[in-house]
Amino acid sequence: MSLSDELQKLWEVQLLDVEIMSLEEKFQSLDRGEELKKRIDSLTNLYNKKSEDIKSKEVFLKELELELSSLEERKKKDEERLYKNVTTQKEVDRLTQEIQYINQEKNKVEDKILEIMESLDSLREEAPRIKREIEELETSLTEILEKAKVLEQEILASLQDLKTKRTEKIKEVDSKLLSKYEMIRKNRRGRGMSKVIEGKCSECGVELSLFLVEKLKQLDELLVCEHCGRILFV
Ligand SMILES: [Zn+2]
Repeated sequence: MSLSDELQKLWEVQLLDVEIMSLEEKFQSLDRGEELKKRIDSLTNLYNKKSEDIKSKEVFLKELELELSSLEERKKKDEERLYKNVTTQKEVDRLTQEIQYINQEKNKVEDKILEIMESLDSLREEAPRIKREIEELETSLTEILEKAKVLEQEILASLQDLKTKRTEKIKEVDSKLLSKYEMIRKNRRGRGMSKVIEGKCSECGVELSLFLVEKLKQLDELLVCEHCGRILFV
């Protein structure tokens, strides 16, 4: 086989290699919902926090309501005593003072109860909203994962096909030429060959010397780009 035929075969190998590399890249960069998973995690944390917050506020509210009713009880008893059983002015003063104090305490507790109820209201509105958002995102994630799975299978099948073609194709290439190509492509983005177009190396873009261009025309010697070292192919 002539050198130019050999190079033509090797070029066909490179075309397969380029296709294989681009599919492998596509496989790597498939959207597998990583961003979405992070968002769902952070929303789930937020939802759990809000739910715990609701629970602890409900407990606190119950305690405050108990406190309020016990204050009311005390007040009622003091008032009964005040109107029925007191005999001395001293006792009247003491009970009046105590009722005043209980009223102050009652106001404090009532304010606190209102505050907790308001914050519970907004939490009870917020939590289901977050839950709905999580459910929507989970639906999207399922769709993305299903799509990725289909694409993965398609890409793997194409890769398998291309690799089989490559195995067949390299049988037609001279083994020394092939190993030279393999060595060069290792450090050159997977491309060991370059087409010469208008006197330039199409891979690195460098203008080739006239001497090299003349030699290339003779088609009797394996030549490499003076700049990037790739096997040149006219
Ligand atoms: Zn070059």
